[in-house]
Amino acid sequence: MTFGLARQRVEPTRTLLAFEVQLGEMDGREKRVARNEATSREINEGIQEAHDGAAPDEHLRMLCECGHESCERVIAITSDEYERVRSDARHFAVIRDHVIPDVEDIVEETDRFVVVAKRDGTPADVAIEENPRS
Ligand SMILES: [Zn+2]
Repeated sequence: MTFGLARQRVEPTRTLLAFEVQLGEMDGREKRVARNEATSREINEGIQEAHDGAAPDEHLRMLCECGHESCERVIAITSDEYERVRSDARHFAVIRDHVIPDVEDIVEETDRFVVVAKRDGTPADVAIEENPRS
């Protein structure tokens, strides 16, 4: 699906349709990865909200934010740690085995999860556009 908009700079008020257009530029695998990441992040946002007021060192169980379609792993992460991950729209918390080395770099490691940063390019752009906090 393409409407000839793909190379245009996207406005902040872009719609879901525009997101789909952008996804149309990617191959099937990248598209799935971007969708899965956006979905797990939305769910994790909800988990964090549900634990509003939890002790700073309490481990919340959140979904691994890797782009693997079949991933059902959970990570133990505190609300503070998650807040730090989310302070950069390109950062995702994943279990170590689920890092996808060709599209992301490890920027932080704990014994429970690693934080990856999307490299420049379309997957990172989608991560930013899909940020529910933007
Ligand atoms: Zn995973």
